[in-house]
Amino acid sequence: MKKYKHLFFDLDHTLWDFEANSEATLREMFESYNLSRFFADYEDFHAKYEPHNLHLWAQYRKNRVTKKVLNVQRFYLPFAEVGFDDFSIAQKFAKDYLDISGTKTILFPNTIEVLRQLQERYQLHIITNGFKEVQNQKLQNSGLRPFFTNIYISELIGVQKPHAYFFDYAIKSSHASRKESLVIGDSLEADIKGAKKAGIDQVFFNSKKQSHDEDITFVINELRELLEFL
Ligand SMILES: [Mg+2]
Repeated sequence: MKKYKHLFFDLDHTLWDFEANSEATLREMFESYNLSRFFADYEDFHAKYEPHNLHLWAQYRKNRVTKKVLNVQRFYLPFAEVGFDDFSIAQKFAKDYLDISGTKTILFPNTIEVLRQLQERYQLHIITNGFKEVQNQKLQNSGLRPFFTNIYISELIGVQKPHAYFFDYAIKSSHASRKESLVIGDSLEADIKGAKKAGIDQVFFNSKKQSHDEDITFVINELRELLEFL
C-alpha cells in the first residue's frame, strides 16, 4: 500500500500505556503521601478519584474548567470526600502527579520495533490532546521522541481532537495532504471520528476489543498488525 506518506499517531493509550503509567504513579504517590491514613487502600482511593477525574476532563473538553482547575480538583475533591480537606496539599499532589507520570515509560507491546520499521518508509508525527510539558516529557523519557518529525499538542494548537482545525493544522504544518495521511489512535471520538470528519483515513487501535458500529478504514488490536498493511 503505497498511497500513505504521513502517519499521525495518537500518544496516550495508543503508544504510551496511559493506564499502566498512571497507576504506577498513583500507587507510588499513595505510599509517599501516606494516603492509607484516609483511604482503606489504593483501590479505595482510585475508586473515589476516577469519577472526579472523568467528570473534570469532560468539563475541560467543553472549556468549562481550566487545566489548572482540572488538575487540582481531581485530587482535592476525592481527598475532601474522606475528610482530607487541604487545598495546598492537593495542589502539591497535582503537580507531583504530572511531574512523576511524565517520567514513566511503559509502552504498548512492540511499540519501538513497529516505529523503527515504519520510520524507514513513512514520516511519523504525534497528534495528542494534553498538556505540553507532560506530553513532551513522556516522549523524551520513553525514547519515542526520535521517531517523530512533528509533535502536535492540543494545548499549543488551541483546540483538541476531534476538532477539524486540529487535523487541518497538523496536515498543513507537516506539508502533507489528506490523501497521503493516516491517523492511528485508540479513541473512536477524538481520533477516528475526528480524522474521518477531516477527510483522513483512520486506523482504530482497539486494544480493548470494544464493540462499535463505526465505519473505519482499518482496525487493529495490536500495534504489530500495522506492519501487515503499511
Ligand atoms: Mg489516546
